Amino acid sequence: MSEIVIPRPEMWRQKVERFRQDGLERLCVVSDWDRTLTPARTPDGRVLTTYAIIAHEAGLGEDYVRASQALYETYRQVEVSAEMSAVEKRGQMQTWWEEEFALLVRYGFGKKHLEQLITGEMLRLREGGEAFLHLLAQTGVPLRIVSAGIRDVIEGFLEHQNLLFDNVHIIANRLRFDASGHMVGHLEPVIHSLNKQGKWMGGQKAMVQDRRNVILLGDTLEDAQMVDERHTTGIIRCGLFDAEVEQLRDLYAAVYDVLICGDGPLTFWCDWLEDLI
Ligand SMILES: [Mg+2]
Repeated sequence: MSEIVIPRPEMWRQKVERFRQDGLERLCVVSDWDRTLTPARTPDGRVLTTYAIIAHEAGLGEDYVRASQALYETYRQVEVSAEMSAVEKRGQMQTWWEEEFALLVRYGFGKKHLEQLITGEMLRLREGGEAFLHLLAQTGVPLRIVSAGIRDVIEGFLEHQNLLFDNVHIIANRLRFDASGHMVGHLEPVIHSLNKQGKWMGGQKAMVQDRRNVILLGDTLEDAQMVDERHTTGIIRCGLFDAEVEQLRDLYAAVYDVLICGDGPLTFWCDWLEDLI
């Protein structure tokens, strides 16, 4: 069931009041993509990330799906582990992403598959996501999407949905293709789930220069650290909290100012923005 949790109501009230006074022209949104702007799972319970969608919809064959699933089973527990050190986790995430990209090359991923994902059934925005993007565009609030997914997929999808507005800037992995559209590799550096810190300020800096009241949206504990507080004039962190990490609820409550639980909608932020307008 969807539920909004505000762990520190007094601090929340102060932050919100401050943001309200500063207004829209100081505001910027920095958001993760997978499981944040998109839902954590499909209505029938399947995990929904860029890579899961590739497995389900790209048609690269059963051997690819098995190999990719094996990587997921190995590394997902590392990704959400509260015991391992950040350094150790980052090293393993780097390996996971490189192995996944190598699989895509080996099993013949190409531009025609990109097209299938973009126009397919699985990839979708979280409920309220479309309205949220429209509101941000309408108010000129920059949206920085920082994702360990694939930029071609995110960009293509938003374009297909008529949601690739001028205020949107995507920082994610870029694939390399040869002349006939076959994937031959990826551009460096790899953005994996645990090395996103500071990346939101990359590219088109002027857009966010005077907008240092940041609303951060993320679904992992590390996403909460995507934006360094020292580079902001204020930050409100919103965690998209799914039952899969229920055992980490206290840790989420410690790093996020608000939790949208149960794979809930982004309506909360639409209402908040409309209020500000
Ligand atoms: Mg995510």
